[in-house]
Amino acid sequence: MDWDDERVPQSELAAKEIELFRETVRRVKRTMPFYAERLRDVDPDAIRTPEDIALVPTTNKADLRAQPYPSAIGVPLTDVMELHASSGTTGSAVVTGYTASDLQLWRTAMKRVLQRAGVHRGDIVHNAYGYGLFTGGLGFHYAALETGVTVLPISGGQTQRQVTMLRDLKATVLTCTPSYGQHIAEVMRQMGVAKDEMSLRVGVFGAEAWSQQMCDEIESEMGITALDVYGLAEIIGPGVASECAEGHKGLHVSEDLFYFEVIDPQTGKPVPDGTLGELVLTALRREASPVVRYRTGDITRVIPGSCECGRTTRRMDHILGRVDDMFTLRGVNLFPRDVESALLDMDALAPVYQLVLDRHQALDVLEVHVEPRETEAERGVLAAAVQRRLNEVLGVSVMVAVMDPLSIPRSEGKAVRVVDRRKLTYAR
Ligand SMILES: [Zn+2]
Repeated sequence: MDWDDERVPQSELAAKEIELFRETVRRVKRTMPFYAERLRDVDPDAIRTPEDIALVPTTNKADLRAQPYPSAIGVPLTDVMELHASSGTTGSAVVTGYTASDLQLWRTAMKRVLQRAGVHRGDIVHNAYGYGLFTGGLGFHYAALETGVTVLPISGGQTQRQVTMLRDLKATVLTCTPSYGQHIAEVMRQMGVAKDEMSLRVGVFGAEAWSQQMCDEIESEMGITALDVYGLAEIIGPGVASECAEGHKGLHVSEDLFYFEVIDPQTGKPVPDGTLGELVLTALRREASPVVRYRTGDITRVIPGSCECGRTTRRMDHILGRVDDMFTLRGVNLFPRDVESALLDMDALAPVYQLVLDRHQALDVLEVHVEPRETEAERGVLAAAVQRRLNEVLGVSVMVAVMDPLSIPRSEGKAVRVVDRRKLTYAR
């Protein structure tokens, strides 16, 4: 199979993925003590269907942390060409190694990211991802080299200089985190640099979860198409999945390189396409740091149907949150974001809310606290409208309390969106 080809029939792709998964299991059991133990009862030859794969034990971040470098490297250390480390925002960083073949794998995956964004010879990539142990900078650097386009390795920071360079060197492609993209747009405004003084056409933003509103804002302020890219150091770095410019609706996963599944984070069972769950990834061709069924903790869903761009690789949705934010109401898994997106559509509400979970006579109850935008709003009518909307969107009935204006605590950092009083009850 041609690695650059994202147009092979899905059935052919699916068969290839299972074969590669089988080979991966066989290899890691042989080369890595951790997997020899964890996959002790798994017979690679018996893996024939996605259902068989779903029975293979998963791994998580704690498993990786429990194997300090170099115990999780599956090749002789002399074959390791590059080392990276995850940002380590929670707990210690995970070190990951790349052989020459792994680096080529990464370059291939990253080339696809630029191809999906419509980047071609003659383009100039202004790469404002941080260079260093963080995989963003070098990942996009390799992408540009592999695609054969000019790259400006400017890294992050010195934003006024970034704006001047963008204008003077006429970059056509911007790559950075979405929040930094927003900041560049803000500094452009402050410096009085108009978007039509720039030559930018497209931006590829990742390494952070970002909302549709943020995407719309970046697109209008910079006059570009803003695309999402997903990846993580534990698997390869950026390049696991990205949006195409034609469809601009969900991220194509490079399925022949990374096997992906979406599971119910509580039962561990696969969920149907279109249903939210936890993203699980297997690096299919990784040599130095292979990972089998890694639970990413990221919430997404498989987008059903095919994309208008003609690529046959399946798409996942933008990352909608973290598993840690999930709560369960009468057997239905819910995320604050589900409620948030329903509420943000309602103009009569202030953009704050709080979710209070409680238990009344052995029945779980969700009370959604909202605030009216106008003091004189008719609260009974508003509460009924919000309740109708939420019942419809969430598929489970909730209670709504319209609070006094400015009574819901405002965020000074990470907002407390969910108050779970059921846990207090258990503690008594
Ligand atoms: Zn597409």
